[in-house]
Amino acid sequence: MASATIVLFSNALRLADNAALLAAIESGDPVIPVYIFDEQSPKIRPLGAASKWWLLQSLMALRDDLRTRGSDLVIRCGNTTDCIAELVAEVGAARVFLTRGYTPAAVATEQSLHEILEKKNVQCRRFGGYLLLEPEMVRTKTGTKYTVFTPFWRTASDLIDTTEPQPAPSNILAPESWPTSDDIGSLGLEPKPAHWAAPIAVHWHPGEAGAHERLADFLDGPVQTYKQARDFPATDATSSLSPHLAFGEISPRTLWFETRKHMAADEAVSTGGAHFLRELGWREFSAHLLFHFPDMQTQPMRKQFSKFPWREGDSDLVRAWQKGQTGFPIVDAGMRQLWQLGWMHNRVRMIVASFLVKDLLWHWHEGEAWFWDTLVDADFANNIASWQWVAGCGADASPYFRIFNPTTQGEKFDKAGEYVRRFVPELATMPDKYIHCPVSAPERVLKMADVKLGETYPVPIIDRQQARAAALAALASIKKT
Ligand SMILES: Cc1cc2nc3c(=O)[nH]c(=O)nc-3n(C[C@H](O)[C@H](O)[C@H](O)COP(=O)(O)OP(=O)(O)OC[C@H]3O[C@@H](n4cnc5c(N)ncnc54)[C@H](O)[C@@H]3O)c2cc1C
Repeated sequence: MASATIVLFSNALRLADNAALLAAIESGDPVIPVYIFDEQSPKIRPLGAASKWWLLQSLMALRDDLRTRGSDLVIRCGNTTDCIAELVAEVGAARVFLTRGYTPAAVATEQSLHEILEKKNVQCRRFGGYLLLEPEMVRTKTGTKYTVFTPFWRTASDLIDTTEPQPAPSNILAPESWPTSDDIGSLGLEPKPAHWAAPIAVHWHPGEAGAHERLADFLDGPVQTYKQARDFPATDATSSLSPHLAFGEISPRTLWFETRKHMAADEAVSTGGAHFLRELGWREFSAHLLFHFPDMQTQPMRKQFSKFPWREGDSDLVRAWQKGQTGFPIVDAGMRQLWQLGWMHNRVRMIVASFLVKDLLWHWHEGEAWFWDTLVDADFANNIASWQWVAGCGADASPYFRIFNPTTQGEKFDKAGEYVRRFVPELATMPDKYIHCPVSAPERVLKMADVKLGETYPVPIIDRQQARAAALAALASIKKT
């Protein structure tokens, strides 16, 4: 039997700038692209429903892209190490190449894969590509790990590889016969009930081609005003590349390279481009933190918060938050945007998260889990680090006592209420003055806007003055211990 090289696709569902794939092609042997749908490996966290929908589309796109190059995608379902060991035996593979992951589950899986393959005399090589930099590369002058973003990024941004990313290969050598593959449709990735993903499907174009289109659209326009406009949720001023990055449909190096190219060619892009690249730094920083402090998936980075009296469990308050029925329009608009599009604007993510952890005093785990299930861009490190940041217990977190006021945040970042009107249609004709606080509107204004508080739109589910006092008392309680 001729030997072959297996390329394990997991967090890099793309052909361009995929070092593992390129090295496999260079090996000269037939290449067998493989995806393992794994809900069984140790420490694995099953994907949320929105991510499953995205994965289904992304796998179909990847398979089509491989087929147009004379190749295919072999799909198996099970524990990654067992499935790969079986495939290696079936096809007589001499090598297994993969793109490295940084979550605790990825680290454990790669370790066990490496051990098993070494025993079988099969080469196992990991390549970078999910991040701009390997977490081991970025250290302080004294060799310690960074826990604060600004110095991290000062060091990290100087280390980034600025060479041109590799294009997608035009041909991939196929084996003489293909091993069997599970059907993509058998993985259980379809939404149930099917119709909930319809608006998501209209909004997004998963897959490598969709990722490159998004980047091109962003660099053609919004990047110019990114710095000023990125905080205003009605403006579509950000890239919306997050789900494409989460599934590795485009490499962060491609974003880096293309943005810098635009910056060099057009001065109008330089400020926005630089700011955009700095945001990518937060993605690097989150992955860096999770890799070095894997306990942060459950434990607060600031240890004094382990005694914080968070509330937990099922509650009408949390359900109102999930459904966008809190009576605070900007919170409700954000939560409904999440439900409709599987995505929420960053500024609004901060507002809704603050509302859950500081106004309702609910544990950030609860919000993190809801986001994990409903975001198409759910990213283990970004999500955990961001929730800890908002909750005040993260490494470089905003101070706990800084509690967002959803009404003033709405008035500041959605002045004319355009975003609220889009996602909370029952408030569509409220005058700007009251759109972020309908409860303060005189009866005649409510009547003219056809709003019946408590019927067509909820009255606020909490008294914010009391909630703020409770949050500060909870903070004081952990300071005493
Ligand atoms: C509570 C909370 C939970 C979050 N959960 C996730 C998550 O699961 N997945 C996720 O990708 N982002 C998460 N974020 C970060 C951020 O909101 C999104 O990355 C951003 O809104 C994605 O939109 P965009 O692609 O248009 O971003 P852009 O503004 O265009 O930024 C470009 C890219 O930079 C990265 N980025 C930007 N801001 C951040 C940030 N604060 N932290 C880490 N990376 C960042 C993302 O990869 C993003 O795609 C969360 C933020 C909060 C406050």
